[in-house]
Amino acid sequence: MIEVSKKCIGCSKCVPVCPFAAINMIDKMAVMNEACTLCGVCVQVCPVQAITITREEASARDLSGFKGVWVYVELSEAADKTHPKKIKQVTFELLSAGRRLADELGEDLCAIMLADKNHNYEKELGAYGADKVYMVEHDELFEYNTDIFTTVIVSLVTRHKPSVMLYGATIQGRDLAPRVASSLYVGLTADCTALAIKDGLLLQSRPAFGGNIMADILAPKSRPQMSTVRPNVMKMSEPVHGRSAVVVRESAKLDKSLRRVKVLERKIAHEGGAVKIDTARIVVSGGRGMKSKEKFKMLEELSKLLGGVVGASRAAVDLGFKEKAHQVGQSGTTVSPKLYLSFGISGAVQHIVGMKASDIIIAVNKDASAPIFNVAKYGIVGDVHEIVPKLIEALKKK
Ligand code: FAD
Ligand code: SF4
Ligand code: SF4
Repeated sequence: MIEVSKKCIGCSKCVPVCPFAAINMIDKMAVMNEACTLCGVCVQVCPVQAITITREEASARDLSGFKGVWVYVELSEAADKTHPKKIKQVTFELLSAGRRLADELGEDLCAIMLADKNHNYEKELGAYGADKVYMVEHDELFEYNTDIFTTVIVSLVTRHKPSVMLYGATIQGRDLAPRVASSLYVGLTADCTALAIKDGLLLQSRPAFGGNIMADILAPKSRPQMSTVRPNVMKMSEPVHGRSAVVVRESAKLDKSLRRVKVLERKIAHEGGAVKIDTARIVVSGGRGMKSKEKFKMLEELSKLLGGVVGASRAAVDLGFKEKAHQVGQSGTTVSPKLYLSFGISGAVQHIVGMKASDIIIAVNKDASAPIFNVAKYGIVGDVHEIVPKLIEALKKK
């Protein structure tokens, strides 16, 4: 419920910022109409705190009308406005996971697309399983902005009532999802590693207590049930080309004044020597068993010969063998290459969650009982300092 108290001084500041034209000035007082989605934007601009929004207790909410699995579509940064942005791979991974959830629930899978222009995105989104694309096109959506994107998503959710909403646990998703969750007064499970349906609810699994246990989380009293999932965690299904999604165009009245943060400059970290470990087809990783920074360099040579990227366990990073940008695992990057080679890594759960989605895992460890062998397709029990030089020699001969 939204209320305007007698503190209102009739300044009208709330009127232009409302994205849904839900405020009228009547007798020098703001009055909200039925178009209000409780997005909360007007509350932030009122200079005298005259507007209050009271949200229902979770237990008192009627959840019966909430249907459908939604996936937030994340776009890459474009060089400028004339270049079409690309849909990030994590979106396709989430659509693939979302398709399974939607089928189990017998509901639609919808992609939520906010952009300044639609470049036929529905074809790709449909190919990865979306039934519908809720499309909001507006000049103000040319780049990601927390306030503007939150406002639009909150209004879409309020109008269409999805049951499940998934975001990539990317920089953007990690910024957007909590804002949406707090605006809607619902929960959010971050960094899920598995999603399933249990008794009609979204079963969200994620590591807890430093990765020592897996926690299964249900949100029975609020909707939408919201999760973020890291890139490379969910397996992407094969696209069905020619299968296109239905586009549902949604309008939003967006004003520049909603934009509280202005981007002045963008800088890419590690420019030049950028590490693309998350998209590499081959990752050659080393752990504490490599013994020293000097010996770790053998993996650089091996990786070069294979056309791969070097990865490292946290222990190897902590020991200074490799920079943090190369760390694979729970507090590093999640990878899913075609081939993952592991040398002198024990296979702690925090490492495994970051690489278990790899197609083929080959592990070398001198301890036959090392847990890394539980996820490896091929295992070699032996000394890395003997095996790596032999591999390099053999590849050089080829
Ligand atoms: P160790 O566990 O010490 O294993 C070294 C292995 O090398 C052993 O199995 C040994 O048998 C083998 N070995 C030794 N010498 C040789 C040799 N000559 N030839 C062959 N094998 C040899 N870890 C990560 O990797 N990524 C993360 O993102 C991450 N995040 C974490 C987050 C939290 C909150 C916590 C608590 C921990 C995290 N960790 C992470 C740390 C993790 O628990 C392990 O400590 C770490 O993965 C161990 O790295 P390691 O396998 O290189 O070292
Ligand atoms: Fe408009 Fe949002 Fe305020 Fe409602 S809460 S009146 S939709 S700005
Ligand atoms: Fe009234 Fe506040 Fe709106 Fe101004 S911004 S008209 S004080 S409710």
